Amino acid sequence: MTLPISFEFFPPKTPEGADKLRTVRQALYVKKPEFCSVTFGAGGSTQEGTFGTVGEILAEGVSAASHFSCIGATKAGVREQLATLKAMGVKRLVALRGDLPSGYGAGGEFSYASDLVAFIRAETGDHFHIEVAAYPEVHPQARSADADLQAYVTKVKAGANSAITQYFYNSDAYFRFVDDAHKLGATVPVVPGIMPITNSSQLLRFSDACGAEVPRWIRLRLQGYGDDSTSIKAFGLDVVTDLCDQLHSAGVPALHFYSMNQSLPTLAICERLGL
Ligand code: FAD
Repeated sequence: MTLPISFEFFPPKTPEGADKLRTVRQALYVKKPEFCSVTFGAGGSTQEGTFGTVGEILAEGVSAASHFSCIGATKAGVREQLATLKAMGVKRLVALRGDLPSGYGAGGEFSYASDLVAFIRAETGDHFHIEVAAYPEVHPQARSADADLQAYVTKVKAGANSAITQYFYNSDAYFRFVDDAHKLGATVPVVPGIMPITNSSQLLRFSDACGAEVPRWIRLRLQGYGDDSTSIKAFGLDVVTDLCDQLHSAGVPALHFYSMNQSLPTLAICERLGL
C-alpha cells in the first residue's frame, strides 16, 4: 500500500523521556513519514519542549509540524512565536484553539482556531502550510453538529491548507463529514487521525473527554479482555488495521498516526498494511 503517512508526538517532560522519544522517532522514520508533528500545551505550557522537539526532528532531516494553540494567547506573543518557528525553518503548523486547564482564566486575544488561522495568514502570508483539527464525531463543546461543521468550514476558509481529524473508529462519520464539508465549500484534504488501541481503560477515559466514540462492540470486547494486554493489543491491531484498510480503499489523502510516543503499535499497523 502506498499512502503518505505522518506521526504525532508529544513533548517529553524529562531527559529520559527525550532519549526514549529519539529512539522511537528513529524506529518510525523507517516508514518515511511525510512529516512528524509535536503537540503544544494550551497556554504555551510546553512551548520550550514543543519547539525543542520540533528542532530535533528538523535536524534529523525530517519535515516537522509544530502544533500551535491560541487560547489565552496575545497577538504579540503569537507574533513572536511565529517568528521563532520561521527562524527555525518550520514550514508547517497545526493551528488550534486548545483547551485551558480548569481554573485558568481564559483571557487572551483569540477565541477560536479560525482567529488564529486568519492571524497567521495575515502575519506570515503563505510561509506556513496550515493544518486545522476536524471532528467527524463533533467537538464535545459544540452547540450543535451543524454549528461545529460551520466552524470547521470557517477555519478552512480563513486559510487552512488541510485538516487532521480527531481519531474515530466509525468510518461512516468521517465520510459523511468530508462530504458535508465539501458541499459547504471546504474542499481541503481531510486526513484521518489514527489512534492505535493498546490500553483499554486509558482509551475509554480519553475518548469520553475528547469527543471520540468507541463503538459499543469495541468497548465491550476491550472490557471483556480485562488486564490481558496481549489480547487487547492483538484485537486493537485487527480493528485499527481494518479501519485503515477501509479508509485507504475509499481514497483518503493520507493517514496521521497518534503515536503516543511509542513506536511498536504504529509500526505494527504499518507493517500489517504493507506501508
Ligand atoms: P475550534 O475550531 O476553535 O473549535 C472549538 C469549539 O468552538 C468547537 O466546539 C467549535 O464548534 C466552536 N466554535 C468554533 N468557532 C466558533 C464560532 N465562531 N462561534 C461559536 N462556536 C465556535 N490540543 C492542545 O492543547 N494541543 C495540541 O497540540 C492539540 N493537537 C490537536 C491535534 C488534532 C489533530 C486534534 C483533532 C486536536 C488537537 N488538540 C490539541 C485538541 C484541541 O485543542 C481541542 O479539541 C480544543 O477543544 C479545540 O481546538 P480546535 O482548534 O478544534 O478549536
